[in-house]
Amino acid sequence: MSASSQELCTITFESAEVGLAILDPDACIVMWNGWLAKRSGIPAEDALGKRLEDLFPDLEGSRLQRMVLSTLRHGTTGVLRPAFGSSPLPLTVSRMAARGFERIQQSVAIKPLDVDPRHCLLQVFDVTSMIHREQLLRDQAKRLQRSNEELKELAYVVSHDLRAPLRTVQQFAGFLVEDCDGRLSEESLSHLDRITHRIRRMDQLIVDLLEYSKVGFDGGEQEPVDLTALVSDIVESLAASIDEAQGRVEVDELPVVIGDPVRLTQLFQNLISNALKFQADDSPVVQVSCTKQEDRYEIRVADNGIGINPAHQDRIFGVFKRLHAESEYEGTGIGLAVCMKIALLHGGPLEVESEPGKGSTFIFTLAAAPQAT
Ligand code: ADP
Repeated sequence: MSASSQELCTITFESAEVGLAILDPDACIVMWNGWLAKRSGIPAEDALGKRLEDLFPDLEGSRLQRMVLSTLRHGTTGVLRPAFGSSPLPLTVSRMAARGFERIQQSVAIKPLDVDPRHCLLQVFDVTSMIHREQLLRDQAKRLQRSNEELKELAYVVSHDLRAPLRTVQQFAGFLVEDCDGRLSEESLSHLDRITHRIRRMDQLIVDLLEYSKVGFDGGEQEPVDLTALVSDIVESLAASIDEAQGRVEVDELPVVIGDPVRLTQLFQNLISNALKFQADDSPVVQVSCTKQEDRYEIRVADNGIGINPAHQDRIFGVFKRLHAESEYEGTGIGLAVCMKIALLHGGPLEVESEPGKGSTFIFTLAAAPQAT
């Protein structure tokens, strides 16, 4: 025999995985489900006919009590959610946890009963895990903020306190050359020359490291960026080195994307400069192209240069990782590490496809700007 709808309602009410209670117009409990009975330790027979304050004296004068009264008198609805760090709402409800019973964090919703608006339905939800998770996220965010501040401080120390003594050494090496004019041997002069060269290199490494550490900290405002204009400015600024190498840069029509214009300039500038730099004897040809992929664009910067051995293709994105001696191709090895950070900040990694002697293609994606209507 199938259950009547009345029986189905009662079973559903009883076995619901949330606390359900119905209060009559005098705020007395007329229904009290199994969840509430189990969590509060108050069986239905002890709860029925009582007011909530009789069962939970802390409710007297509380916001929850005012909410219940307002629903019964004026038919209002309300939701009460525990504030962060606050003690649980004054409904004493607990659950079995690993270390015995623990008081749960509840969210309470109250509204007039659809079938009889003079009564009200009280729903109690266990939001303990959600509150714990939110608390964890807040703690993590605080820790991240602290470590970001420490990193910023470190960057400041690096730029000021490490570069200053380098400049002094550089200055004294210069004084030595001037003071001992004609008295230093060829060999000593060559040593001094090497000292100043290494100092300049170290200074450049510090500047680059600083730049790398800054990506992601400063500004970072994302806005519509017209890539055609941005790339053509870069090509113009590189005109001298393009001419010198007797190369050319071919640029497809590029879209408007969402990004940080300063960082995107840095990204394209690094990739195009590398494409012009890592060449054998051939005249460099660099191609910047793009294809639409749903709501993003895939951008490719391809060259006809020396290419990269697949075995080293992961390494090149590391900080100060280079595949060539400085005497072969100048640089510090920070460019692609910065590019990777910028690409990730814009929603995806920077990847490379390359074979030795057959050129390289660097690939990343950018979000399409919403179409203007
Ligand atoms: P840098 O240009 O200062 O050496 P990058 O971080 O820009 O530093 O590049 C790291 C290494 O990746 C380079 O030293 C080079 O070996 C390799 N590389 C980068 N771009 C190209 C390219 N277009 N073609 C061939 N090799 C490249």
